[in-house]
Amino acid sequence: MRLLWRVVAPHPSPSPVRTASSVPAGKPNFVPACSTTDAHSLELLRDFLTRARRLFVITGAGLSTESGIPDYRSQGVGLYARTDRRPMQHAEFIRSAKSRQRYWARNFVGWPQFSSHQPNSAHWALRRWEQRGVLHWLVTQNVDALHSKAGQKRLTELHGCSHRVVCLGCGAITAREDLQKRFVLLNPEWSAQAGVVAPDGDVFLEDEQVLNFRVPSCEQCGGILKPEVTFFGDTVNRETVLFVHDRLAESDALLVVGSSLQVYSGYRFLLATSDRKMPIAIVNIGPTRADHLADVKVSGRCGEVLSAIHPSWCCEQ
Ligand SMILES: [Zn+2]
Repeated sequence: MRLLWRVVAPHPSPSPVRTASSVPAGKPNFVPACSTTDAHSLELLRDFLTRARRLFVITGAGLSTESGIPDYRSQGVGLYARTDRRPMQHAEFIRSAKSRQRYWARNFVGWPQFSSHQPNSAHWALRRWEQRGVLHWLVTQNVDALHSKAGQKRLTELHGCSHRVVCLGCGAITAREDLQKRFVLLNPEWSAQAGVVAPDGDVFLEDEQVLNFRVPSCEQCGGILKPEVTFFGDTVNRETVLFVHDRLAESDALLVVGSSLQVYSGYRFLLATSDRKMPIAIVNIGPTRADHLADVKVSGRCGEVLSAIHPSWCCEQ
């Protein structure tokens, strides 16, 4: 049943515009600027969460910017705004050995930094909610493994995970960390400096730098290796989508954290939730594709909002 209250436009706040002061000195900031979150919308979110018994959560890149991973679309600080680089397209990866060589060379350089990112307070809050038995299922559009690092169990990685590698020949799944060791063995003379790391672990290298980079193939069948990640232009596995719809059907409220929902693979679950008349809350900096479907909208930094919210079930001993 849809809850009766509905607030989308936040109250004007007298507080000054907040800057990304929580980012450690010397680290690049990938969190968009936002006004201080108003207390009224936080209170509505708290009520929303307190009523939930089987909460379904969708997370996106906005959750990981506070861990130092840039997103693609944020105004001013996202990869699209700062650079002319665009993510790898699925068809290009499949078609072109040269594209794969360039992709893996950049990914190799960026891996030590990308794989070292740690969960932030938003990831930890969601893990606590799972331990409380209220968070029924979490679907993330992120491929950075930060929910897994926080210990989240009831989790679907909708677009896969960059910490895994799949063979396009035999389907074998291996650890990305093991592939890094093979890269090092195959390319003892090769080195490059990591630049700006993208959400998928990619970095910037000139073409001539990657010409001599050697890319290993599957140890089982010699097939092409690809991150176990849904590239742009590819579709999410149908069985995964059906599985997530089943978990959604078991839930009684939906919370979006840190996603503008511009990609249909996530947005479709908002449409399904709306069809079911389930209440929807969104925490995100800036507008989302589903604002018109939301009962509660909080504009703010995910970590600050989620760690400031204490639904009644969260405080029960
Ligand atoms: Zn294989």
